[in-house]
Amino acid sequence: MAINGRVLISGAGIAGLTLAICLKEYGEDPVVVEQSPELPDQGYMMDFFGSGWDVAERMGLTDKLRALRYPIDKLQFVNAEGKPYTSVPIKRIKRALDGKYVYLRRPDLVRILFDRAEALGVQVRFGKEIADLREREEHVDVKFDDGSSDEFALVFGADGVHSGVRRLMFGEESQFARFLGAYVAAFHIEDHDLPVRRTAQIHEEPNRVAFYYPLGDRSLDATFVFRLDEVDVPPNQQLSFVRRSFKGSGWIGEALLDAYKGTAPLYFDTLTQIAIPRWSRGRVTLLGDACGCLTLLAGQGSHMAMAGAYLLAQELQRYDGNHVAAFTSYEAMMKPEIARRQEDAAAFAKIFMPTAQSKPWLRRLVIQAGFNPLVLPFALRYFGSKSILENENDENEEA
Ligand SMILES: Cc1cc2nc3c(=O)[nH]c(=O)nc-3n(C[C@H](O)[C@H](O)[C@H](O)COP(=O)(O)OP(=O)(O)OC[C@H]3O[C@@H](n4cnc5c(N)ncnc54)[C@H](O)[C@@H]3O)c2cc1C
Repeated sequence: MAINGRVLISGAGIAGLTLAICLKEYGEDPVVVEQSPELPDQGYMMDFFGSGWDVAERMGLTDKLRALRYPIDKLQFVNAEGKPYTSVPIKRIKRALDGKYVYLRRPDLVRILFDRAEALGVQVRFGKEIADLREREEHVDVKFDDGSSDEFALVFGADGVHSGVRRLMFGEESQFARFLGAYVAAFHIEDHDLPVRRTAQIHEEPNRVAFYYPLGDRSLDATFVFRLDEVDVPPNQQLSFVRRSFKGSGWIGEALLDAYKGTAPLYFDTLTQIAIPRWSRGRVTLLGDACGCLTLLAGQGSHMAMAGAYLLAQELQRYDGNHVAAFTSYEAMMKPEIARRQEDAAAFAKIFMPTAQSKPWLRRLVIQAGFNPLVLPFALRYFGSKSILENENDENEEA
């Protein structure tokens, strides 16, 4: 491949590092800038399979993924007293996905990708972000927030749902944001005394859901999702906002928040998708959540972020560094897939949490049916178990 010059990737997250690795392996010279001062060491738990697994397999990373270990044998839906009404062995989920599944924390995946990028010699500059972009005929002039400037052949915005590259090239986020009517907050809780065993548990009540994953005897990751109209919540009020929203909730909501000793959630945001008419402008293109955030309800944002990065690099190689042809082809492949998954996630947002009118017995029946060993492989298709690289896999096998 012959891109004429170095390329700049904004964001050392899942999409950005995957793209950096793929481009470096094709012989290009990517530079990554990351807003955070260092790699994250805490983060929410994720399910990883489908398109993400396929990309990881092609990158030779699945041994590292399989080596990750957390003390979780089953997933349980529990009532307000903590009594399980549905219990799903993790083995059942693995079996339904032919063993191509792990649960991991976002920082685990970022670390695995970062280590590979570093071993390949990719430059990652932490604590640095793009302040301005000017497209010229042959390159892009970039100014950074530390006052330095440089020029790059291409620029990639892999800087997440609140992308700075997107704002600079396409305008304010509000034009592309699709609020799904709920909030999400994630916490890492240490030194708790809760009666937690080797089980991830979920408890749902009208308009709020809390779930946690044990990490060890006394530490866990917890996530809270709750329905509410969009309001402005300043960072210093996020914790009290979540506490208020889960006041009086049964096992496990309030107990977890009581056990939390920090001053702010590890992660806090609205449940908002990003739908943008065009992903590329000239020598700049977007990938991952920056152009196609699905939200956690799709259960496959990281998979699609990796798949998008992988296909983008592949198209740049196919078109010999011709970015116009490559960006057009990448967008034509990815955008319909993202749009369909966004629609599914937006529909799921309406039923993911019960409402005051929901019938608990009916929800329990549906949940039990969904996790039935015979139904589960089909139910998981809704969450992206069918990889978007599946057709390529078939073609490769035929060849
Ligand atoms: C609670 C929760 C649970 C989830 N569960 C799952 C799951 O089970 N399975 C799944 O597949 N997905 C899940 N997701 C979604 C998944 O985490 C995202 O879709 C995925 O992280 C998107 O990858 P990305 O690289 O596009 O963005 P990110 O992972 O957000 O990475 C963006 C990077 O850019 C950096 N950055 C931001 N702004 C700038 C800037 N201006 N300049 C430079 N750098 C910048 C950030 O610090 C970050 O490192 C979940 C999300 C949440 C919130």
